[in-house]
Amino acid sequence: MSIAENIAQIRARMCAAALAAGRRPEELLLCAASKMNDAERVKEAVAAGVDCCGENRVQELLQKLPLGAYTGRPVHFIGHLQTNKVNKVVGKVDLIQSVDRTELLEAVDRTARRLGLRQAILLEVNIGAEPQKGGFSPAETLELAAHMGDYPGVLLQGLMAIPPISEKRGDNCKYFAKMRNLYIDIADKKYDNVSMVCLSMGMSDDFEDAIAEGSTMVRLGTAIFGARHYGI
Ligand SMILES: *Cc1c(COP(=O)(O)O)cnc(C)c1O
Repeated sequence: MSIAENIAQIRARMCAAALAAGRRPEELLLCAASKMNDAERVKEAVAAGVDCCGENRVQELLQKLPLGAYTGRPVHFIGHLQTNKVNKVVGKVDLIQSVDRTELLEAVDRTARRLGLRQAILLEVNIGAEPQKGGFSPAETLELAAHMGDYPGVLLQGLMAIPPISEKRGDNCKYFAKMRNLYIDIADKKYDNVSMVCLSMGMSDDFEDAIAEGSTMVRLGTAIFGARHYGI
């Protein structure tokens, strides 16, 4: 199947999942997680109507950007971001979804202020409390959101999560539900410098569950582009 055919099927599944949950399909965004796919394939996804693209690695982002891979759509950074590469990303992407530690938040804020801009970000939450994974705990996320006024170089637009690898369908619903509660909690508080518009959760294997639990953006790689081939 072509990328465009995959996307058409995914849209239909997103729409069905939204309706089944009593939600409006128009409020769901599809982010193409385009790691290991070249600029031409990313362009195909853009032409087929994904809402945005997400890159994991700074090097891939900087390769594909000048080739016009994302032209016409916003591009997001969704991978682990090393502090010493922040200056290569801030101002070049529409949203950094993966702000996963205070040191990174401070570096993004500082860099954005130096450049005279405001960088939209999401906070990444380690919702499964997995020791090997980055991200804030829910308590840390709440606390940070309350202090976003201290970081005028950024604008907090929501939360992102990658739940634990699941054994079977439905296993991650409890994590998605926790994320939604946290997201709503923060939105209700109306903190300074916070505008909660994006709850980014759900990947190829579990996006329908994420939509059922309140996701506003799913990030799909395999379902759009097919399996990734590592090591070639
Ligand atoms: C690769 C990746 C995805 C997409 O994963 P698939 O399972 O291929 O859909 C989503 N989010 C992030 C952060 C990723 O790195």
